Amino acid sequence: MIKTQAEANVPTEHGSFRMIAFSENENDWMPHMAIIAENTDFSKPVNVRFHSECITGEVFHSKKCECGQQLDAAMKYIHENGGIIIYLRQEGRNIGIINKLKAYSLQEKGLDTVEANLQLGLPADDRNFGVAIDILNLLEVKEINLLTNNPEKVKYVTESNIHLNSRVPLQIPPNDISRDYLKTKKDYFGHLLDDNDI
Ligand SMILES: [Zn+2]
Repeated sequence: MIKTQAEANVPTEHGSFRMIAFSENENDWMPHMAIIAENTDFSKPVNVRFHSECITGEVFHSKKCECGQQLDAAMKYIHENGGIIIYLRQEGRNIGIINKLKAYSLQEKGLDTVEANLQLGLPADDRNFGVAIDILNLLEVKEINLLTNNPEKVKYVTESNIHLNSRVPLQIPPNDISRDYLKTKKDYFGHLLDDNDI
């Protein structure tokens, strides 16, 4: 079982957040994180974003996906409205950065994001949001508004002991490179994206 390993306040461009690292042991160099806005009211439904790591999008501002912009939008929203980002170390829908770059290489040959994973013998999406539920329980959160377009994340919450008060869409307009990727997310994974915005 994971537990709190360390916590501190971190000022950011989006305001100040309490950052907490969770892992099974303190030697874990890739702990999951909870990033909590200062003005969070735990007596009301808490705004929550489950965000899976994407080094290409968040650190290097890749245009292939919208993860970096989604994280920025979530931090801005949560700074303004209170809430928690649960940052999960599930790079590349949990296939890791090496496999993600292999999949990108296949995409250069014309495969889409799902076909590339399958050709590598990997699942289309191997993420598990159960640990996000564990973290909410450790933080004693009972009721949430979930910032997501992903029905799979909604399902994890509705099947847990956490009460889902509402879903808040978090849609980023596509660029010319990310448009096909977002279409695949909508068509294959059933993401709740507005047609007019793809
Ligand atoms: Zn990404």
